[in-house]
Amino acid sequence: RLNFPAEFIQRELHSASFFSPSGKRLHVSRQDTQAYVLDRSRFDYYLAEMALKAGAELFCSTKCLGIEIHEDHVRIKATQERSSLGLEARVCLLATGVNYAFHDRLGLGRPSGFLDSTQVEVEGKGFEEVELYFGREVSPASFAWAVPINSGRVRIGVTARANAAQYLKQLLATSRIRERIDENGSQMARRVIPLGPIKKSYAKRLMVIGDAAGQVKPTTGGGIYYGLLCSGIAAEVVQSAFACGNFGEEQFKTYEKQWKSKIGPELSVGLSARKLLSKCSDGQIDALIELGQEDRVLGLIKRYADFDWHKRLILILAKAQFLMQRVGSLY
Ligand SMILES: Cc1cc2nc3c(=O)[nH]c(=O)nc-3n(C[C@H](O)[C@H](O)[C@H](O)COP(=O)(O)OP(=O)(O)OC[C@H]3O[C@@H](n4cnc5c(N)ncnc54)[C@H](O)[C@@H]3O)c2cc1C
Repeated sequence: RLNFPAEFIQRELHSASFFSPSGKRLHVSRQDTQAYVLDRSRFDYYLAEMALKAGAELFCSTKCLGIEIHEDHVRIKATQERSSLGLEARVCLLATGVNYAFHDRLGLGRPSGFLDSTQVEVEGKGFEEVELYFGREVSPASFAWAVPINSGRVRIGVTARANAAQYLKQLLATSRIRERIDENGSQMARRVIPLGPIKKSYAKRLMVIGDAAGQVKPTTGGGIYYGLLCSGIAAEVVQSAFACGNFGEEQFKTYEKQWKSKIGPELSVGLSARKLLSKCSDGQIDALIELGQEDRVLGLIKRYADFDWHKRLILILAKAQFLMQRVGSLY
């Protein structure tokens, strides 16, 4: 779907196993590649190089402190290695990740919720596919993962309402993980994940992109694909603003209309699915995974599952009467 050089790809992913709290396993696999594991820093450098080639000027070690929107320009106040810097532009694209420091003053609002997330990269043996773990002990209301990269390394992480690092430590200490990894020298990386879109992702001379706009799959917390997709829309809208010389709020409203029509339903169905999962007891998760192992249900999953678009499968499962009768009996 997105074209980028193969040199950033650390691994192609074809299959995943979902583990219930009591260890029941639902295995889903496909012949064709479902997702790529990327070398994120090389990928980011590549994007920066593309921007430079296209004429962008890059300010490294520079922190934006303020954004002022004026009638005919946007003014950015920043610091660069302790010196003050003032920049002027005709349009500002706010892509500050999970830093929402500018949002309130610009009337943009914030995502409706957040997840705490911690990940570690370690040496690992016997990780052949994505493994996903569910249950109160793993992470109440969320899940944990192990994703093999290459040359015997694996990324293991947890998202949780809070205390993700604590849940990750507990997971690493369980026999199913501990016996397969060597944690020596590894460092945990912590970050928050936004859940749900911000109230308004545009203003006069401004658009908000990526995590800063809440363009993240609520089911998994993945934001790279949606962020890039919405960046493409923003690029077209900004191009048309320059072409017609219109930098008013109405012009940039078309950005929000377009990205919300593309991924808005995914975000709302994904949020509902996450809410439902967060209310499941361990026994109910066990029963759901067991249901998923049945041919009829597994057939639907294999047919409709998509790594980036989850709404279709969720709605198809929700509409399958035979399944809902069985799920209904679990509650
Ligand atoms: C543990 C973990 C694992 C993840 N795994 C995946 C995954 O497998 N797949 C996936 O799709 N997504 C994943 N994500 C989510 C993904 O990392 C984000 O969705 C994605 O990086 C968002 O991109 P972005 O450009 O919007 O923000 P970011 O990548 O966060 O970039 C924002 C940039 O803005 C800079 N910035 C912020 N404020 C200022 C300021 N005031 N001045 C100057 N610069 C500023 C930041 O320093 C940063 O460089 C994961 C997240 C976590 C926490």
